[in-house]
Amino acid sequence: MAVTLTIDHRAAETAADASPERIVPVAAPVAAPVTGGTTEKPSLIGLSREAMGGLLREAGIPDRQVRMRVAQIWHWMYVRGATDFSQMTNVAKDLRADLDRAFTLARPEIVTEQVSTDGTRKWLMKFPPRGAGRPVEIETVYIPEEGRGTLCVSSQVGCTLTCSFCHTGTQKLVRNLTSEEILAQLLVARDRLGDYPDAKPDAEAMMPSEGRLVSNLVMMGMGEPLYNFDHVREALLIASDGDGLSLSKRRITLSTSGVVPMIPKAGEEMGVMLAISLHAVRDELRDELVPLNKKYPIRALLDACRAYPGLSNARRITFEYVMLKGVNDSPADARELVRLLKGIPAKINLIPFNPWPGSAYECSDWDVIERFADVVNHAATPRRSAPRAARHLRRLRPAEVGERADARQGTDGAGSGGQPAGSRHAGDGLGSRRLKARTSSCS
Ligand code: SF4
Repeated sequence: MAVTLTIDHRAAETAADASPERIVPVAAPVAAPVTGGTTEKPSLIGLSREAMGGLLREAGIPDRQVRMRVAQIWHWMYVRGATDFSQMTNVAKDLRADLDRAFTLARPEIVTEQVSTDGTRKWLMKFPPRGAGRPVEIETVYIPEEGRGTLCVSSQVGCTLTCSFCHTGTQKLVRNLTSEEILAQLLVARDRLGDYPDAKPDAEAMMPSEGRLVSNLVMMGMGEPLYNFDHVREALLIASDGDGLSLSKRRITLSTSGVVPMIPKAGEEMGVMLAISLHAVRDELRDELVPLNKKYPIRALLDACRAYPGLSNARRITFEYVMLKGVNDSPADARELVRLLKGIPAKINLIPFNPWPGSAYECSDWDVIERFADVVNHAATPRRSAPRAARHLRRLRPAEVGERADARQGTDGAGSGGQPAGSRHAGDGLGSRRLKARTSSCS
């Protein structure tokens, strides 16, 4: 069984992880009127075709035209990135005006936009209260890498779970985001990056050299997505719709802290990749780090993983494991991790913890993280595969480790108390870098 060990700084690496001097605030364009009330017209963003068709009917579009109009609008919204009905040139002018009177395609207000020198971008977006009493703000983070661009999206404002290593866990749940708001995070990112066929990407920006600028979507921002199932499902089905945004389901990852009863439903109804916020190999410790474990202990969680629809070596489950000094980082923990994951096609992401004010934990020392990774690889791989991983690790210069550790310090304070809100299971309060041990079966 092959094992590779790589440095992966995807969703956990956010603009907030970079030091303040490396972050450049960009003039943020203000979009939709989010002024403490609701927007005046209903948005067509984030609606299923059926729901959109229903609204068009109510607005007086004749029954026989509804299907065709839905297809046209869908294409303009999700393929061409239209933000206004006036852009829909294959729709009659009168009808465009009628649509404009009845509906909106406006984006949320962008409160701030920050760009790090490594190309990472962070947006603070404002949405209407929708019953929460005041407008709400959430962060969305874009991480460009060679060959891919990953967008980390939030599903809730705050969280009901209280994972002790997670800064979002200290904030009460304000409300669930709607499918419109979840999808709007993706649309805003594509707008700002110029990720549409007719758009001109920013020549100065650091982006993947080929392919789509937003190629991967991870539900790893604020909140537990399986506690907002219907809206998350709707948004992800639209994001993966082949006639629209067309993201491959293999490039969409939903991360959960372990809401066991919803895991099979997620596989059946969304069919996206799964990530588990694991972080501990014993129930006593996981009860403390991820209190939901008291309800759904490790064994039940891993049984649900083994039964995840579509699971195979090509569709592995990612297990997130934050490295906490003296808490969960011993060689025995590493061996137990491999034992627990036996029989599950898995990737293991080791995430250096990024302390936040008031957090009770420290990040494991780098040599401890390396040793943990070595133990995982040796335990999970035949001997002949181990040198490959070791070679890769040796290529890391100590200076690089130091640089990256520095880059994790500080933020200019956007969002949740100076920590990256767009990084919960993957890294609210977690570090900027991951070691990814990929095993074909962990057997
Ligand atoms: S890790 Fe996820 S589920 Fe746990 S408190 Fe943070 S946002 Fe909520």
